[in-house]
Amino acid sequence: MTNHLAEVGRGSLRCSLCEEPAVTLVRYAKLRLCRKHFAEFVRRRVIKTIERYRLIKSGWKVLVAVSGGKDSSALLHILSEVSRQLNFEVVAVHIDLGIGEYSRKAREVVEKLCGILGVQLVVLDLKDLIGASLPELVTRSRRPACSVCGLVKRYLINSAALELGANAIALGHHMDDLLPYVVKNFITQDLGGIGKLGPGTESEEGLIGRVRPLYEISEREVALYAYVQGLPVVESSCPYTVRGGSIEEEVRRFLNSLEEGSPGIKIAFARALAKNLDFYKSRLLGQVGRCRYCGTPTSAEVCAFCRLTERGLGKPMGPAVRAKIREIVERGVKGFSKAVKNDRASSHKPGE
Ligand code: SF4
Ligand code: ZN
Ligand code: ZN
Repeated sequence: MTNHLAEVGRGSLRCSLCEEPAVTLVRYAKLRLCRKHFAEFVRRRVIKTIERYRLIKSGWKVLVAVSGGKDSSALLHILSEVSRQLNFEVVAVHIDLGIGEYSRKAREVVEKLCGILGVQLVVLDLKDLIGASLPELVTRSRRPACSVCGLVKRYLINSAALELGANAIALGHHMDDLLPYVVKNFITQDLGGIGKLGPGTESEEGLIGRVRPLYEISEREVALYAYVQGLPVVESSCPYTVRGGSIEEEVRRFLNSLEEGSPGIKIAFARALAKNLDFYKSRLLGQVGRCRYCGTPTSAEVCAFCRLTERGLGKPMGPAVRAKIREIVERGVKGFSKAVKNDRASSHKPGE
């Protein structure tokens, strides 16, 4: 966070709204903000995003996918803070991928965060569900790790959302995650791909809609929010993380340099895209049928998860996984009593 602090002269400048030292300068809003007012500013922007794009309705149950990283941890914290005002319920889901020490740490961090917030947590252990960890599945399926991981996570989170009766799945994607892919897909003219990168998708039978309440928040703002709130986050990276050299990385740098000269241009881009999203969505292939094994909507005869597990593990695991998740959810719902929130004020001290 030293960059943020350097930006405002290491605390020598005061917050625009109070006498406390500023921790950041929000250039597009022309505001210097202290820890408290910065956190409030982010939460207000998330509320506006939810309202602007009608992402979450009153009375909904929202399943937040939490990996243990700063983005999804910040999202869970923000949604649990604003849920009372907007009248929705928050439940968290975490997938233990079985990637050695990284997964152990991630699970520990998510359990701690949910304990602090008093949020119900459903943990899905991949090895328990399909008999193989992510590294084992990657080896057996001979596919790139992140593509296997993305596919598995999508299927498991959707299954958990269906079993929990959730109305939406909230993802911690911020605009610096999404906009570089929009540009990349435009370059390759994958217009349908752009259609998936908006603030939210509608639910359909068998597929719960996904919402991105951090759609208008930048990566730096999310990181600073997690820092000023003192959220527990996993510090190490997944060993499969690919660094540098990608088109998305290049585009991200380019968009950030544009933002330097024209503060607010990334938000304007995100909003303009959201307005034209129907056009891009119309380029997407529809889910024309249902998986012959598990019933998930799919454009093929067998869904991607059943295909992957059939190829890697010898049989399509969709139905068995759905049944196990149903059991876990039923056990979890019965066994869960809203934990008395630990002393949140002291739990969220910066630098903890
Ligand atoms: Fe999964 Fe790849 Fe992310 Fe690791 S880096 S958690 S394998 S998507
Ligand atoms: Zn202030
Ligand atoms: Zn299937």
